[in-house]
Amino acid sequence: MIPVSCGEIADAVRGELVGVEPTAVVDGSVVIDSRAAEPRGLFVALPGERVDGHDYVGTATAAGVTAALTTRPIEGSPCIVVDDTQRALGDLARLVVGRLPDLTVIALTGSSGKTSTKDLIAQVIRPYGETVSPEGSFNNEIGHPLTALQATETTKYLVAEMGTRHQGDIAYLTGITPPGIGLVLNIGTSHIGEFGSQDNIAIAKGELIEAVPADGIAILNADDHRVAAMRSRTQARILTFGEAAEADIRAEGVKLDAEGRPAFVLHIGDFSGDVQLQFIGEHYVSNALAAAAVGSAIGLTPGQITDGLNAATRVSAARMELTERADGVTIINDAFNANPDSTRAALKSLVAIGRSRGARTWAVLGEMLELGDTSADEHDAIGRLVVRLDVNRLLVVGEGAKPIHLGASLEGSWGNESAFVDTIPEALELLRSELRAGDVVLVKSSKGSKLRSLADALLEDV
Ligand code: ATP
Ligand code: MG
Repeated sequence: MIPVSCGEIADAVRGELVGVEPTAVVDGSVVIDSRAAEPRGLFVALPGERVDGHDYVGTATAAGVTAALTTRPIEGSPCIVVDDTQRALGDLARLVVGRLPDLTVIALTGSSGKTSTKDLIAQVIRPYGETVSPEGSFNNEIGHPLTALQATETTKYLVAEMGTRHQGDIAYLTGITPPGIGLVLNIGTSHIGEFGSQDNIAIAKGELIEAVPADGIAILNADDHRVAAMRSRTQARILTFGEAAEADIRAEGVKLDAEGRPAFVLHIGDFSGDVQLQFIGEHYVSNALAAAAVGSAIGLTPGQITDGLNAATRVSAARMELTERADGVTIINDAFNANPDSTRAALKSLVAIGRSRGARTWAVLGEMLELGDTSADEHDAIGRLVVRLDVNRLLVVGEGAKPIHLGASLEGSWGNESAFVDTIPEALELLRSELRAGDVVLVKSSKGSKLRSLADALLEDV
């Protein structure tokens, strides 16, 4: 963190110094895990579900932190005592970002593709200015301020993913790091269980656009009507992206190769350039256009943007990872997370890859979590889509995912097979006996459904 004295921190977080002088300076990392504590840093004691950070303040002190942010004094440790350490972490990040006038905050949200797009943006813009953008999601009220605290005087861009489960979540995050550039990717159905409707999700995600000031830039998806409608929620300059003819940043002639990687012609104003992405799935076109729009917003030339997109590779793990095993079976591991939109996108990619190779396709699907009342219907709809897309084999794993199997079975005669198993070992046994050279297997589920271990086991098999 940039150097800040404990007195200044206490003022910003409305805390009380206990056992530490106001002039003591924090200029090491701010951490929430005492194992990562370092000399001159700050340890933030968060109350966890299983462990309480306050139990580790002593360890952090021994590691040399200047102070700990706590909700009570801890004997023998220098503390800044507050009512709520999580909120104090946000207040501290706001203080630090407020001291970096040359920093441009690029904030993005959406139902699917935030991490993928954040990684793409970072790769496109990094050659033109020091960029803070962590691997992984880091998109909530803890991860976001921790990310922001990595910015220093030499940082030019902070690329921040913002997630939301409730109205007001994004407003809280943008309050910590006011965005100069705000981007909304799409409005799908993830967390619809908590929001009730897609319109409510749009209200929540639009908080990000409301936070973009009049001299900022709001980037909106022209292909998603709920996102496009957010233009009325800001005075900022609007840039749109999509395949729609009116989009400022536009893709034309999208094609997938045999690996499922999209190629298209990128149009920015009068410029047209060829883009060949290194990612799998047509949905990456939209993410790439969003990244191109950010590049354009910070003043990169269309040529620089095209080069950046063509060179970008995957950063964060387990999103549409395609691996060809020695026995000729191809595994597409997308078991990091799943919602109905990303599952539809993944299934379409599977079919496109299968078709271009003339291969037999398998969809191995687990439960999509956090869908609330709509869960059974959404799973059922995915089962029906599998049939309509003519995926060759469907294997549904786990009780919560069963409506996928039922939906597929009810959709009508398909000439192919759907199987249901309760557990991952059963799924493995079935796959081990039936997979043959040339097959393409998509493994997809929510993180909590643990199909990632199934994908890992399939990859270790050969
Ligand atoms: P989270 O809410 O878990 O942080 P996220 O919004 O950051 O998710 P990613 O982790 O980038 O999203 O991707 C999640 C899933 O969505 C992956 O399966 C990915 O392949 C898929 N995906 C990525 N971009 C899109 C998109 N534009 N539309 C639909 N699905 C997408
Ligand atoms: Mg994410």
